[in-house]
Amino acid sequence: MKRYYLGLNENGPKAKDCLFSRGTSGDLRALSEYLAGRYQGEAILTKNGRSALAMALRAYLEPGDKVIVNAFTCYAVYEAIMEAGMAPVFVDINEKTLNFDVKTLEEPWKGAAVHANRIKGIIIQNSLGNPVDIEAVEKFAKKHGLTIIEDLAHSAGVRYPDGREIGTVGVAAALSFGKDKAINAISGGAVILRETPVHEIEAPFKAPKLSDHLRARFYPAFCSICKGLNGIHLGGIMMRALIKIHWVERSADNRLNFERRLSKFQARLALLQFKKFHHRGEGKLREFYLVKNRDKVLAKLRQAGYYFDAFWYEKPVSPARYYKEIKFPEKTCPVSVKVTKEIINFPLYYTPEELEKAIEIIKPYLIGRDYD
Ligand SMILES: *Cc1c(COP(=O)(O)O)cnc(C)c1O
Repeated sequence: MKRYYLGLNENGPKAKDCLFSRGTSGDLRALSEYLAGRYQGEAILTKNGRSALAMALRAYLEPGDKVIVNAFTCYAVYEAIMEAGMAPVFVDINEKTLNFDVKTLEEPWKGAAVHANRIKGIIIQNSLGNPVDIEAVEKFAKKHGLTIIEDLAHSAGVRYPDGREIGTVGVAAALSFGKDKAINAISGGAVILRETPVHEIEAPFKAPKLSDHLRARFYPAFCSICKGLNGIHLGGIMMRALIKIHWVERSADNRLNFERRLSKFQARLALLQFKKFHHRGEGKLREFYLVKNRDKVLAKLRQAGYYFDAFWYEKPVSPARYYKEIKFPEKTCPVSVKVTKEIINFPLYYTPEELEKAIEIIKPYLIGRDYD
């Protein structure tokens, strides 16, 4: 068993696909057309998922509006809301699904109703690929006049309980093609505007920066090299060095940008992955477990050669290094705070066989929900 510090989704692009793939403007067009068809709207390709999400917010809401967001999320979502000039209203989660539900969604309207003032939108996240009860959420949104935007970073290709595909319900669907996402092209994103926008949105008019392009090209190759070195722990050291000199970028540091799009070869990779979906089937992005004594469990896992510390999510808005700048309402979101102290989920670069032994280690410590 090898220790991996950063790795690649087994379903993600391989080193040779990234190094040698020649993208064309035809690939950009093909991906746009595919997304327009699949999600029934106008597709715009973006630099990353947060840019796509911010565009969706800008297209249908007004600056100053408040937007409901899952209280167990990625900094990317927060950044998108702020960049759109809006404010997040975090709603607590149910620990079985890691999503808000109709019970917790009522919270902002209770009491003094200060929050309810100007809440105009709701972002549905479908955490780790667990779908929300969409019919109930839709009814709730209608009651309060909320515009629904779907964030597909965790859930591209998954269906809601009522059979509709995620991304075909709201006014807009935002996709991320980042590392470890449901569609992995190292970076990139897209927004599909499914209804006529209230505000006109300009598609990115510039190609990606050369540095971003090269980072996407070389990332899988760097990962392969680091994995190869791991026997003597050099892999982790090398990966950290690559991050330090900015040859590798942590996903959370990929900045929002409205002017630049993804690279052509990334469009090609993203489309290939969408097409593979039909064969691979639909599923969760990550299985998650809630455990007591997590530090002890993690120590045991490390001893057995696993490195699971980079789970989703370590803070209600992750990563931890950005959490401080967010005024997160821990008091009104206790389940999210608790879950971030108990959760373990697996990075996608471990195979099912590798995971079996890890699950045996975790089993005696499980709490909180029924496991199959
Ligand atoms: C990763 C992620 C995004 C978008 O991330 P980018 O890095 O900007 O592509 C959006 N929402 C959620 C919930 C995410 O985890």
